[in-house]
Amino acid sequence: MNSIQIAIDGPASSGKSTVAKIIAKNFGYTYLDTGAMYRAVTLLALENKLTADKVDDILALLAQHPISFGRSEDGQQLVFLGQRDVSLAIRDNDVTNNVSWVAALAPIRERLVELQQEIAQAGGIVMDGRDIGTVVLPQAELKIFLIASVEERALRRFKENKARGIETDLETLKEEIAARDLKDSTRAVSPLKAAEDAITFDTTGVSIEGVVQFISEKAKEILDK
Ligand code: C5P
Repeated sequence: MNSIQIAIDGPASSGKSTVAKIIAKNFGYTYLDTGAMYRAVTLLALENKLTADKVDDILALLAQHPISFGRSEDGQQLVFLGQRDVSLAIRDNDVTNNVSWVAALAPIRERLVELQQEIAQAGGIVMDGRDIGTVVLPQAELKIFLIASVEERALRRFKENKARGIETDLETLKEEIAARDLKDSTRAVSPLKAAEDAITFDTTGVSIEGVVQFISEKAKEILDK
């Protein structure tokens, strides 16, 4: 096999995007952060003061300001809404704490899944999210479901924030992560769950390199078949 599709799902801050990026780079595959797409739509909704009952207006705005991806000079992934670079704005707390209601809207999911499936047609891809193995790429050759304790995930986010100069409270982070997991896994449309043929890997106490190695070995086994 020349190239495969790798689906990486899991709850908030389970390390999906960090390992997905490294694997995509090592294999020369496209990387798609689907969470960034839900975040971008959330930013549009919040900036325009739109609520869940205004889903058609949110979709109209999205059509006017399409999501696209780019790369900065130092290789970081950039996210655009129309011409505007929203890479930093979509990581705001306000967006993080509102994304779950936007992501629960079926018409928004339909539109974003369509875009995600179009992007995946290009060839080898590593996509991370919540419903990649179940809905977006049900035919993916490799499906991984990453989990980790809430304590560990909150601590990772705490350290990431600190490195960026943002002071946060660990207990608040724990509560926010647990609340987002609950909303994402109990929503009616495409809830966060492992596909039946996914490999679940608990990353609690495992280094990034350890997770990358585990997934890369599984991918190589499939490619060598
Ligand atoms: O991955 P990240 O934490 O950035 O995702 C932000 C939010 O986007 C998640 O909490 C979830 O509500 C939503 N999401 C989703 N389906 C995906 C990716 C993200 O519902 N495939």
